[in-house]
Amino acid sequence: MKRRAIIVRGLVQGVGFRPFVYGLARRLGLNGYVRNQTGGVWIEVEGEAEIIGRFLDGLTAEAPPAARIEDVSWESRTPVGDGDFRIEASAADGGPVAIGPDLATCDACLAELFDPSDRRFHYPFLNCTQCGPRLTIIISAPYDRERTTMAGFTMCPACRAEYDDPTDRRFHAQPVACPACGPRLSLVDGDGSPRSVADPLGEAVAAVRAGQILAVKGLGGYHLACDAGNEGAVAELRRRKHRDEKPFAVMVADIEAAKRLAEVSDAEATLLRDPRRPIVLLRRRPSAGLAAGVAPGNPAVGLMLPYTPLHHLLLRDAGGPLVMTSGNRSDEPIAFDDADAITRLRGIADQFLTHDRRINIRADDSVTRWSAGAEAPVRLSRGYAPGTVSLACECPEPTLAVGGQLKSVFALGRGRQATLGHHLGDLDHAEAFRAFTAAVAYYEQLFGFKPAVLVHDLHPDYASTRYALERDDVPRRIAVQHHHAHLASCLAENGLDEPAIGVTFDGSGYGLDGTIWGGEFLVGDCGSVRRAAHLRAVPMPGGEQAVREPWRMALAYLVDAGVEPAILSPAVPTVSLRTARQLLTKRALAPLTSSAGRLFDAVAAIAGVRHRVSYEGQAAIELEGLAATAAPDESYPFEVTAGAEAWEIDCRPLVAAVERDAARGEFAARIARRFHTTLVEIIARTCDRLRVESGLSLVALSGGVFHNGLLLGETVARLQADGFRVCRHRRVPAGDGGLCLGQLAVAAAVATRTEQKLCA
Ligand code: ZN
Ligand code: ZN
Ligand code: FE
Repeated sequence: MKRRAIIVRGLVQGVGFRPFVYGLARRLGLNGYVRNQTGGVWIEVEGEAEIIGRFLDGLTAEAPPAARIEDVSWESRTPVGDGDFRIEASAADGGPVAIGPDLATCDACLAELFDPSDRRFHYPFLNCTQCGPRLTIIISAPYDRERTTMAGFTMCPACRAEYDDPTDRRFHAQPVACPACGPRLSLVDGDGSPRSVADPLGEAVAAVRAGQILAVKGLGGYHLACDAGNEGAVAELRRRKHRDEKPFAVMVADIEAAKRLAEVSDAEATLLRDPRRPIVLLRRRPSAGLAAGVAPGNPAVGLMLPYTPLHHLLLRDAGGPLVMTSGNRSDEPIAFDDADAITRLRGIADQFLTHDRRINIRADDSVTRWSAGAEAPVRLSRGYAPGTVSLACECPEPTLAVGGQLKSVFALGRGRQATLGHHLGDLDHAEAFRAFTAAVAYYEQLFGFKPAVLVHDLHPDYASTRYALERDDVPRRIAVQHHHAHLASCLAENGLDEPAIGVTFDGSGYGLDGTIWGGEFLVGDCGSVRRAAHLRAVPMPGGEQAVREPWRMALAYLVDAGVEPAILSPAVPTVSLRTARQLLTKRALAPLTSSAGRLFDAVAAIAGVRHRVSYEGQAAIELEGLAATAAPDESYPFEVTAGAEAWEIDCRPLVAAVERDAARGEFAARIARRFHTTLVEIIARTCDRLRVESGLSLVALSGGVFHNGLLLGETVARLQADGFRVCRHRRVPAGDGGLCLGQLAVAAAVATRTEQKLCA
């Protein structure tokens, strides 16, 4: 007879872990107890050593799907002769616990939802320990019902019995509810006045079927929904939302419906069905019954499956796919507070389908993609956040990394664990910045976290940098160069901290020489890097205006290459060309950039694909889409020349060749294809030189440009064929949404090295 004390760490609270342990111990005939405590679940069992071994194996092998086990450790104790196995009350030490993300309705709950004999038949708020809201309803830690937005709903005796029964799948499911005691749907008119109707869902479905725009309260905020097959409704939604061309996400009832609209591989189907329920970017089928206005000019479409019981009911009755786009005006953060939503969405929504379970914190839908054999996340929020990544180096003190400016995400570092917050949008918007400060305060409170170090980008004008500099309750701060953070982010999520060649291609980041970087080859590790090669810098005439108007980058590149920019007429008025050309030599009005994103813009404009964009990355997305339709093709010419400190990739021959192709009427798709081949060639040849120079054969690919699936896939394949070890993003976005993780990794590495130096 042996006794073991076991601690299981990770996301093991509020996910049905104790009932699972109870069931496992009973099945194996072991006695003892289980209870929650700080940072994990504490178990003591006694029985034969061999049986306890099976119990330990079962803890990880059979854990409930919503649990994430990081570590199981145990030690021997003297047997005390327990007569049974029990679930004990939580140790009330108030320490931090892991808090889970919101999860999609599980299969068991879904079966009840459509079972006429179940007491929760058609109840839009059913859930259990394996599914339902978490982060979005928690007001403060620890996670107990009285500290969630469910506090106001008193459980009926039937729900209470399930909640108290250790063998029930609703044991301590904090949001447990039923039609007798839980939240209820209601309908509000477009002008904000409540409508008293017997069947709010039925009325809402009728409205959508009639072509109206419906605001629907989901898990992390309000969606704007309309019939995705109704051209008029979609066009009207675009008009009211002031959204020109940025694609709308679409919710479909099931995988079969998804396959009617897009090509869905097995891996993509698995992503769609994941309990985190992201929007998955998929290749759209032509003439698939989607209104053209859903994703104009875009070869991809973002689809998702229903993730709340309300969505399941809505999709079942709506008779077809629904546009489900964030409830906001243009690019503001999603509306989540009821009164605020009704104010902000008045004039956009014809009706509001809402309910009385308050959302405590907003969480947008997550966006992901399957790319080059793995998941390549684009935007992580609902379902993924809070997320955790283990760091290679330890943060000696609690460290808060505030991320960048666009696609803002922050991260808390404690020991070797990074906890990532959710996507907060572009901090240029005052509303997004408010969301950022509120979310930081919320996570600090939730995780009992008090930062001693702040890590921020070098860019002095990022709102996140200003926040870090102005926060006076934290003694120390570390500034990290943007592309160093990208490289470190890629290394960190792959569990590495060793020297690598970092190919960091993105739209823009503040460079060490005061120019705008974005086509960088860095050599180094999390602790330090040097800029070993980069694209030749060109002016951005009009600064930020050049981001919205790719023709400006085309002009700069053409002039740099000594080519007359006649190809840009008549799409661009002569007077605009003349004015922009005058700016080229004025550094204050035309800052220099080595950005790969801007090179995409230039090529898109020269090829006649796009002269102006209405959302970030649009030109590159369209070039990728075109390139994917053409057969593999040869590379354009370019040169890699030795500069004073770094290799310079001279794209003038490339730009001149693109112009020649375009001028003689070559298909844009072939130009786009050749351009992609050229980028792969640029990366391969430059990495080859840097391998000779540095002896390194590990390449890390990071930066928003690698959201381009075609480029990522071909680059990985080529570098592997050339004998490189390649790491790429799978768990955090390649773009600026992944910066915070890299910032933490750099801070941890710098602290570790400093300590090593002190010791040596
Ligand atoms: Zn469930
Ligand atoms: Zn109830
Ligand atoms: Fe970036």
